[in-house]
Amino acid sequence: MPLTSIPDLIAAVRPGGLGAFNVITLEHAEAIAAAAESAKRPVVLQLSENTALYHRGIAPLALACLRIAADSDAAIAVHLDHATTAELIHTAVDLGIRSVMYDGSALDYADNVAATTAITAWCHQRDVHIEAELGAVGGKDGAHAPGARTDPDEAVEFVRATGVDALAVAVGSAHAMHTRTAELDNDLIAHLAAKVPVPLVLHGSSGVPDHGLRAAVEHGMTKINIATRLNIRMTSAIRDHLANTPDLSDPRKYLTPARAAVQSEVEHFLHLLADARPDDNAPPGDEVES
Ligand SMILES: [Zn+2]
Repeated sequence: MPLTSIPDLIAAVRPGGLGAFNVITLEHAEAIAAAAESAKRPVVLQLSENTALYHRGIAPLALACLRIAADSDAAIAVHLDHATTAELIHTAVDLGIRSVMYDGSALDYADNVAATTAITAWCHQRDVHIEAELGAVGGKDGAHAPGARTDPDEAVEFVRATGVDALAVAVGSAHAMHTRTAELDNDLIAHLAAKVPVPLVLHGSSGVPDHGLRAAVEHGMTKINIATRLNIRMTSAIRDHLANTPDLSDPRKYLTPARAAVQSEVEHFLHLLADARPDDNAPPGDEVES
């Protein structure tokens, strides 16, 4: 399928949510694409700045993701996640990535607006979709510290001032949680969705239980970013396989079940997000750990 834009994918999944999954290894990308094909749902492959640093540059994995997206029967967009420099955004766009996130959340409000505005103008000159981030509390985890909250009036002004196409907001999730115990502020999500004129993005979604993710979409969250859950599943599959095969040396032998575990986790989330509807009043507590 030809490369697909994030706005096209959002339109295709509504009123459900758009699953966006972080790629660290080639096996992640293969698993996410296979899940999109089997679930018949659009999906976003995301590459973060940290992953680019890990691979000593974004090009090898970005080009692999673009090729996997182009060759897939599913609608797949490739997105740059959490870029903190214009240089990385320029490199990604030059490689063919058509959607980026600029993360200026560590800056104070005025500096975040100035930097995001300049990068947004550069992206829009090239018809590149741009997501930005706005939270209320600084610190190590920025907008996704558990106590951080995005102020709706500030969010409206931020989007107006910068011209961004999507906004990551702080509503109670945190990055890299290994338990699914985060409680989102659904009233704030609904308030933000009513006032902010661009799609809202949830980061740190791995720490949110299934019923919380469903409720977030039902209250107006659009793009759901998931990374840690995939890594938990991948690593535990590898750990289990190696524990039972002490003489094994071929990485393909343990990466095959790891890739299958990631695919099954992505399929679970794609079905969950597809089923979320604003008029769905299903009670919480019916989630299944896949
Ligand atoms: Zn994030």
